[in-house]
Amino acid sequence: MTRRHTPERFDGLSVIVPVYNEQQVLPELYRRLGVVLNTLGMPSEILFVNDGGSDGSVAYINSLITTDSRVALIELSRNFGKEVAMSAGLDYARGEAVVIIDADLQDPPELIPELVAHWRAGYDVVYATRTSRAGESWLKKLTAFLFYRLVKRLGGVRIPPDTGDFRLLSRRAVNALTTLRERRRFMKGLYSWIGYRQIAVPYQRDQRFAGVSKWNYWRLWNLALEGITSFTTLPLRLATYVGLVTALGAFGYGAYTIIKTLLWGDPVPGYPSLMTVILFLGGMQLIGLGIIGEYLGRIFDESKGRPLYFVDAYQPSRLDANTAIDDRPPG
Ligand code: UDP
Ligand code: MG
Repeated sequence: MTRRHTPERFDGLSVIVPVYNEQQVLPELYRRLGVVLNTLGMPSEILFVNDGGSDGSVAYINSLITTDSRVALIELSRNFGKEVAMSAGLDYARGEAVVIIDADLQDPPELIPELVAHWRAGYDVVYATRTSRAGESWLKKLTAFLFYRLVKRLGGVRIPPDTGDFRLLSRRAVNALTTLRERRRFMKGLYSWIGYRQIAVPYQRDQRFAGVSKWNYWRLWNLALEGITSFTTLPLRLATYVGLVTALGAFGYGAYTIIKTLLWGDPVPGYPSLMTVILFLGGMQLIGLGIIGEYLGRIFDESKGRPLYFVDAYQPSRLDANTAIDDRPPG
């Protein structure tokens, strides 16, 4: 296994911001986040994770670093996707509590004090649940709705509906998450899977402040597949049951045909029914193979044991050395 980075801790809050070509929104994010962090009454750092973007985001963050000692930056070696960018952030976060927030201001930074209040009351995972999704198409809302219900139905792990990645994690929740090194990461499932004391905080999800969403339906579909196949093997069993039902049906139909032929003969050859059965069975077999393939592909991916990401450059926040506490785990 790869050896992970063990950063020097400090007794405060780390805010992780995954960034992929977000130069249009970063100044406003920094302004609003800065205002909120100043009111918290505890030390804090803003950890930007540049996920291999190619716009002016890095230049802007570097300009922040020269003036604000709270700002830190990890540059990944290429675009790895948001899930991995967040994982890198969790590896490098130094605070006793960690907040994950989108760069595009769809998650209001003004909610952070409430998240922190719950953490101070002893919760480990404080997740923000949206009560509205302003400015998203009805199709996205519908697919999101169906996805959460489907995953819940299929069992595996209970993922709270209408909850994104916007949340606060306690140090022990972060430590638990960073031990999960699977390559195919479905973070929403992993947050739930670790357990500990979890609580929801409702909020209004805003429209993206500027720039364009990097999501499309293909990525959403893949994320849904990830969510299901990472946490349940029910679809594998499903293929067995569908095959069983089909085989039983075919057996019954065969018996019926034999009896019918014996009693009345068979004046018309049953070409259409034959075709139907062949196509149906062929389809079933392909679906079964596809499901097995999904899992096999995941096993292949994990068996390579590659690291999750590579870091191109890392600039830690320059917080007052007095606030830093060294409780890094051995190794
Ligand atoms: N993001 C990332 N890597 C990617 C795609 C997105 O780090 O490959 C970040 C992006 O910069 C933003 C967050 O993930 O901070 C959410 O992205 P986006 O707003 O495009 O997704 P949506 O809100 O539409 O689901
Ligand atoms: Mg967004």
